[in-house]
Amino acid sequence: MTFVEKLRAIVGDKGLVLDAQDMHPYLTDWRENYLGSALAIVRPATTEEVSAVVKLCVAEKVAICPQGGNTGMSGGATPQEDGREIVLSLTRMNRILDIDKVGYSMTVEAGVILKTIQETAADNDRLFPLSLGAEGSCTIGGNLSTNAGGVQVLHYGNARNLVMGLEVVLPNGDIWNGLRALKKDNTGYDLRDLYLGAEGTLGIITRAVLKLWPKPKDVATSWNAVPSPAAAVELLSGAYAASEDNVTSCELMGRQGIELVLKNIPGAADPLADRHDWYVLLEWSSARPPREGANQSGLREKMEAYLGEAMEKGLVLDAVVAQNEAQARAFWALRENHSESQKREGPSIKHDISVSVGKLPDFVTEGLAAMHKALPGCRPVPFGHVGDGNLHFNCQSPPGWTKPQFMAHGEAISGAIYDLVTRYGGSISAEHGIGRIKVDELAHYRSKIELDVMRSLKRALDPQDIMNPGKVIRV
Ligand SMILES: Cc1cc2nc3c(=O)[nH]c(=O)nc-3n(C[C@H](O)[C@H](O)[C@H](O)COP(=O)(O)OP(=O)(O)OC[C@H]3O[C@@H](n4cnc5c(N)ncnc54)[C@H](O)[C@@H]3O)c2cc1C
Repeated sequence: MTFVEKLRAIVGDKGLVLDAQDMHPYLTDWRENYLGSALAIVRPATTEEVSAVVKLCVAEKVAICPQGGNTGMSGGATPQEDGREIVLSLTRMNRILDIDKVGYSMTVEAGVILKTIQETAADNDRLFPLSLGAEGSCTIGGNLSTNAGGVQVLHYGNARNLVMGLEVVLPNGDIWNGLRALKKDNTGYDLRDLYLGAEGTLGIITRAVLKLWPKPKDVATSWNAVPSPAAAVELLSGAYAASEDNVTSCELMGRQGIELVLKNIPGAADPLADRHDWYVLLEWSSARPPREGANQSGLREKMEAYLGEAMEKGLVLDAVVAQNEAQARAFWALRENHSESQKREGPSIKHDISVSVGKLPDFVTEGLAAMHKALPGCRPVPFGHVGDGNLHFNCQSPPGWTKPQFMAHGEAISGAIYDLVTRYGGSISAEHGIGRIKVDELAHYRSKIELDVMRSLKRALDPQDIMNPGKVIRV
């Protein structure tokens, strides 16, 4: 039997994609930076099938590139160009297996779309708080494997904090069942934590037990023009107490990003009459419903009062508080369409950086200067999760430039930003991971000790380097 016939014997015709045209979407990444090649796209339907496929690959010395929704920003889900790998797509493993309302947990297969998980939780009067622009197509397996962040990290934590247990198929094909719904479990090394953020280099996540929270019953959302990133940080700092610790999102955006969204996303509209340099989208939410009646007191009223005070102090220049869900969704669309509008505009370079929140304003000032110095005429597009100190400190090409023309300046631009991040004690990848795009940067900016420990782990768990070779760290 050929390798492909052996695969077919495990996953059946439904689990194999071999036609070149059908394979194409699995072989390129969302940003269209890479075009890989593969022996086959394999789509198992069960954990046992995943295990059998991995065992076959071990025997035949074929590497595996795990893939979920293929929305990753770092090229981790795209196979190499040499055509010696399979892409193992988890998208057929898309069942919600259990929801425990009393225990606030949900057990899911790895290929469930994030939005489906959010909706299932909401239907059960619960919240699964992971929320990001790609939620309609990314999978929970990909979210956990990239330790995704998103727009509610400042309240609920990143993906690592939202999961209790995992089931993982190891690089030798064994199935590790760690599907424990335990909030406390100090029994030796934390294997679960190893796979969160491993980007498919240590094993394949097949199932997860997720944590749930009470569903918010009171939500206030506002769109604010602020004079500077420093004002944004101060606005957030005061909001924690003013909201009684109910701040769930705080997103900063520069005018350039808003211009790109208004230009490239049909239906997008500026909520404010005047143009401003900086904007903050602020959201507060609580599981407690607002009190009704004459003394109505909900988050919206509290937010309006707080923003009024902030205006007096000069922290806010203009603001609008959403009067209904549709208006709040329109504010969010302006924020969430930043990536899509950058893609439509043309070539861009992304820097998913973080520094401590207090240092963010100075970093922005120095970073913008560094970017303009590296390439006069470039268009910086800084936006992101100010409450996490995490900005997508992106750079759009000068208008009309081709990708090769722009990428010739890539090293100078990114080098300037990453050197600055390092000087600020920050991270060169706050939430998007390393994948393929930042392998060299990781090797450059992480210490030898850290790299040695990572390499030792990889060699111990995947001695044949079968899992997503060439991603995260070279062995
Ligand atoms: C418009 C847009 C907005 C985004 N916003 C955010 C954001 O706010 N915050 C954020 O953190 N990220 C964001 N992202 C990137 C984010 O990483 C992904 O959207 C998501 O977490 C990846 O899920 P996926 O299923 O698409 O994974 P993929 O892209 O398929 O894979 C990502 C990585 O995980 C590995 N992998 C996938 N599934 C498994 C599995 N079951 N087991 C082992 N390894 C696996 C892959 O090999 C790859 O290395 C955004 C992306 C887009 C396109």
